[in-house]
Parts: sequence; structure tokens; C-alpha cells
Amino acid sequence: MTFASLGLAAPLLQALETLGYQTPTPIQTQAIPAVLAGRDLMAAAQTGTGKTAGFALPVLQRLSAGEKAASNSIRALVLVPTRELAEQVHASFRQYGEHLPLSTYAAYGGVSINPQMMRLRRGVDVLVATPGRLLDLFRQNAVKFKQVETLILDEADRMLDLGFAQELATVFAALPKQRQTLLFSATFSDEIRSMAKSRLRDPLSIEVSPRNTAAKSVKQWVVPVDKKRKPELFLHLLKSRKWGQVLVFVKTRKGAEQLVTTLQAKKIPADAIHGDKNQPARLRALESFKAGEVQILVATDVAARGLDIDDLPQVVNFDLPIVAEDYIHRIGRTGRAGASGEAISLVCADEAPLLAAIETLTKKTLERDEEPGFEPDHRVPLTGAGPAVAKKPKKPKVGGGRSAKGVPGNWVGFDEGGAKPARRPASRPGAKPAGKPRGR
Ligand code: AMP
Repeated sequence: MTFASLGLAAPLLQALETLGYQTPTPIQTQAIPAVLAGRDLMAAAQTGTGKTAGFALPVLQRLSAGEKAASNSIRALVLVPTRELAEQVHASFRQYGEHLPLSTYAAYGGVSINPQMMRLRRGVDVLVATPGRLLDLFRQNAVKFKQVETLILDEADRMLDLGFAQELATVFAALPKQRQTLLFSATFSDEIRSMAKSRLRDPLSIEVSPRNTAAKSVKQWVVPVDKKRKPELFLHLLKSRKWGQVLVFVKTRKGAEQLVTTLQAKKIPADAIHGDKNQPARLRALESFKAGEVQILVATDVAARGLDIDDLPQVVNFDLPIVAEDYIHRIGRTGRAGASGEAISLVCADEAPLLAAIETLTKKTLERDEEPGFEPDHRVPLTGAGPAVAKKPKKPKVGGGRSAKGVPGNWVGFDEGGAKPARRPASRPGAKPAGKPRGR
């Protein structure tokens, strides 16, 4: 399969060649022809699947055929949950659209609105925005929606998690009814399904797993430890295992700063990325990490969402996430692009319920490996969550229901061959979210 055979035009193929993309990923194989044909899309895909190119390439191609954006108008709107993701998606559009005469721009909060208003005066073909700032701009007449042809919701689940439901409803109400809508989400809750049902027209449903699913390429284990000894244990593992660059997840902003201070005191180059930092500081930290100047990047979940950091050998959960799904997002940062990765969680007794929730979600009991000299005084209780789930008797399959993989029958899985004709997604009352990450 080649990008050319998916129907992409020469200027896009040229950009892909420069980037060294040779083969489309499964989501791209399915999404690109459907989006080019004008279909709505409902895609269950996480970061790392190549989803951004899956929507950006065909959207750019469609836009290159139409009229330019009028003053203060936009033609494609990409809504994203965080500023970092806005920057990344915008950067992708710029790269892919390098040889096309289209303009792209990113607008998000935390920075001055005036330059954004100035830029929008000239009209923008693709606007990537966070919902809050977009509405500020809309209410000040800096952006008009009447020319919008395509709406893309990227990481829709995260936008709802972050409390943007009201903002999304307001944007939907203000957009033209005649438009193409593409919805991407890592998980599919009932809320997302009902949003999709009322806002999408006969969408093609796609589900893919990340290019390297966590279970395949990421070795995961837990190191039980007393809470107060976590910093010491982290330093010990860093040295004894000769770790290079590590992305470390912590629960709170304060915790992130404390860990950075501890590391810096030991002359280890470290920086933090969290919601208390302004946008330029967050981007600086990320850039220095990518450039290799910072060895340890300490992040909170919200700040880390959507970060595109490739080939990271280690991800450490200094604290377990409060929301079990975040564990999947966190460990998705390692083992990408064919590389093998390690995800190590430092777990104290208090965190046993969080560990149990993760094991239930992933249907996998995480291996425990005590570090000599750091055996905890407060034992981490056994969760038993993994085996209990695994032992559940399988429900008999019902015709037209879920496939063996736990996916509704009308979902197109990339490993099931070509795209089937799409029907509306199942919205049976009480249906479990199909896109929930599952243990593989
Ligand atoms: P995404 O899932 O959109 O965040 O993309 C994850 C990473 O994969 C990004 O660094 C992309 O540049 C890269 N990528 C996307 N599609 C391809 C492809 N077909 N071949 C190689 N790399 C790709």
C-alpha cells in the first residue's frame, strides 16, 4: 500500500517523501480515502497511530480545491484539548501542506489573544484551537464559522475529561450544518457516542490499535516502595540501570517541581511540564528534552497529553494516575516506532486501589519486582484484579453484537481486511464503551 494509491495529490506526496513516510499506517489506509470522499469519520485511535496525518492529509487536499478563506473566516477547524497538542497538530499541517498554498494557524489560551485576532483578520484555511480560546475569539467576532467545511475533533475524550462539553456544544451550534465532521478519540464513552450520534452523518467507524500496542512492545512492571523513599529509589534506578532520557509522570504540579529540585540538586538535568507553567515555558521544556539537553522530563497527565516524543526507552510512573486510562496514555510514550520500551511504576501502599483499577482496565496483573534495599515497610496489598477479570466466564456471542475482540460488529478493524460499508455506530443503552483500551 502506498500513499499515492490512496488518492493523495503530488504536493502532499512530495511532503511525505521529505518526511520519510513510506507506508501508510492502518488508520491512514482507512481514513484517507474516506475523508477524501467527503465521509464523516468516527475513529478510535490513540496518539502514535499516525492519526494526525490520517485526517490532515485528506483535509488539506480537499481544501486545496476550494476557495480561499475570507477575512476572519476559517475553512477547517481542528479542536484539541491542550495547547501542546494544538502546536503539534499545527506543525503537522504545516509540514504536510508545505507545497500547497494554504494557511494554517494555532490559537490557544495562556498567551495574548491580540496577535491571534490580528492573524485571523487575513483569514485562515486551517485553524487548530483549544475550545475555550476559540470561543473567546468567536465572541469577539475575530473568527467566523460560515465558511467552515470540515470540523475535526481530536482527542474528543480528553476534551470531555477536561470539562469542555459546554464549549463543544456551543461550537457545534454555531457551525454550518452542512459540513464534514471527523471525530477522533482514544476511548469511546457513552457521552462520546451520544455526541457522535447527534452530530455526525453516517460516519465511517474505524478502530485501530497503536502502531505498537503497549502489550506487544512495552515491558511493564511495578517496584513496590514506601512513599517517602520514591525519590531515592528513582535516583538509584536511574544510576544502576544506566537510564538515558526518562519521561516521569507525577500526580501533582507541586510533586513535579519537588522532583525536579531533587534531581537538579544531584546535577541531573531535569525540567517539568505542568499546568502552572505558561505556554512558552512548557514548550521550552519540551524542546530541550527533545534536543537531549534535559535528561529527565517530569510531567503531569494533562500537560503530557498529546506530546509527540518518539523512541523513549523508559517511562516512569513516579505516582500512579488517578484515572486508570491515563496509564495507557502514559505508557504509550515508550515502545513506539518499533522500539522496545519499559514502563516502570513506583507504587506505595496507598496506591493499591489505583493499581487495582489499572490492572482491571488492562486485564493484566503487573509484575512486581522489589529493588534490594528498597523493600517497603508498608507492604503494597495484593490487588488480585487482573486474574479476577481474566477468570470471568466469557459471555456467549450474540449475532450482530460484539466481535471476539470486544468491538461492536459494525466497527472496521484494520486487521479485518478492507473497510466495510459503514453503518451508524451502535448506541444500545448500557453498552460498554467499545474503544476502551483493552489488554492485548
Ligand atoms: P500521531 O499518531 O498522529 O501522533 O503520529 C505519531 C508519529 O508517527 C508522528 O511522529 C508522525 O510523524 C509519525 N507518522 C505518522 N504517519 C507515519 C507514516 N505513515 N510513516 C512514518 N511515520 C509516521
